Amino acid sequence: MLPVARKIDAENYISEDILSQVADMGYFALRVPEEYGGPDLSTLESVVVVEELARASGAVAAISAISGTMVPYSLVHYSSDDLREEYLTRLSKGKIGAFALSEPCCGSDAASITTRAEEDGGDYIINGRKTWVTNSVYADFFLVAARTGRREDRHKGISIFVVDKDDCIELSKIDLMGIRGSGSSELLFNECRVPREKMVGRLNDGFKIVIDGVNEGRIMTAAIGLGIMQAAFDESLNYAKMRESMGKPIIEHEMVQSMIADMKVKLEASRLLIYNAARKIDNNEIDYPMWSSIAKYSTAKWGVDLVRLAMQVEGAFGYSKESNIERYYRDIKGIEIGDGTNEIQKLVIAKALAGRISPIKK
Ligand SMILES: Cc1cc2nc3c(=O)[nH]c(=O)nc-3n(C[C@H](O)[C@H](O)[C@H](O)COP(=O)(O)OP(=O)(O)OC[C@H]3O[C@@H](n4cnc5c(N)ncnc54)[C@H](O)[C@@H]3O)c2cc1C
Repeated sequence: MLPVARKIDAENYISEDILSQVADMGYFALRVPEEYGGPDLSTLESVVVVEELARASGAVAAISAISGTMVPYSLVHYSSDDLREEYLTRLSKGKIGAFALSEPCCGSDAASITTRAEEDGGDYIINGRKTWVTNSVYADFFLVAARTGRREDRHKGISIFVVDKDDCIELSKIDLMGIRGSGSSELLFNECRVPREKMVGRLNDGFKIVIDGVNEGRIMTAAIGLGIMQAAFDESLNYAKMRESMGKPIIEHEMVQSMIADMKVKLEASRLLIYNAARKIDNNEIDYPMWSSIAKYSTAKWGVDLVRLAMQVEGAFGYSKESNIERYYRDIKGIEIGDGTNEIQKLVIAKALAGRISPIKK
């Protein structure tokens, strides 16, 4: 991805040619089980792949994280055999899936979403607006959270549907600051008719799927941050060894050494927390939601610090488009927002410590 990462960022788009090459390598279907033609990676194995992709392109890593892990994770654990067969097979054949939850009204407060799915004969008719949906520009289908109960019922009135890309969905591409090319757009659902069989899990019980998908998603978002951190660290360390000031390489100056050491600690601590959270999901340990939030929160916070220091080490060069650091600087900020903001991660951690998070029954 390295030779094309800048172009993807500049154009806010990934060409079909590149997308299909990445899809052919199975990167958009990481968690799809072998019986449906996928590589059947664990969460930990997927983290390593997403991390490596993000060292080159945050955008490609983001598509891999959502289409390759969060979407198949939800289908594997919660959907019917027929939906698994159809949609997991599509992913393993290189199609892309997206996760449409956030709305203009509600991001952190996802239990308040207003997109409605009204029953009509054996079908549901979906109307509403979703936003910030990564992958959506390239997607073949969407997992859509929609209200099937009353709004006052909050999380108890939400169901999940698989919706194919169709003319009833109007896409407006979003010009993000970072992770550009990840295919983020706003989606307008206009009378989209979906058969009852496309509901994932049970009626009004979809919020559990959202929460569990987000637990996996948070680890993957952290893995994107980790890859960006590694890339920024490598570039600034090389620069510090090569750049001279006052008669010696800047890495010989104590204050630069301090920045490099600080970056290394943040990088390795993030890696350990992410791998630990991934293992917990793989072992279905009861406290994995809290550890997923700990990994996401710490990586996002330390990631922003690390990339700022990496830019400082490179001086004006790091501040220019000649360096990759300015792209990493824009990309890493998104890790503090996507898949739950830093504040929401702290809320989850505190709730878990107070014993207010029930174990998830798959
Ligand atoms: C790169 C990126 C990719 C994304 N991909 C997707 C995607 O694929 N699918 C999708 O559905 N969404 C996606 N999102 C949306 C993302 O999930 C939301 O942006 C996020 O949940 C925050 O919601 P919001 O932007 O509406 O902010 P708001 O919820 O409006 O929050 C605004 C501010 O208020 C704070 N805040 C809100 N509520 C509380 C509270 N209770 N306590 C303390 N502070 C609070 C927040 O922390 C934040 O600082 C993506 C976002 C980004 C940046």
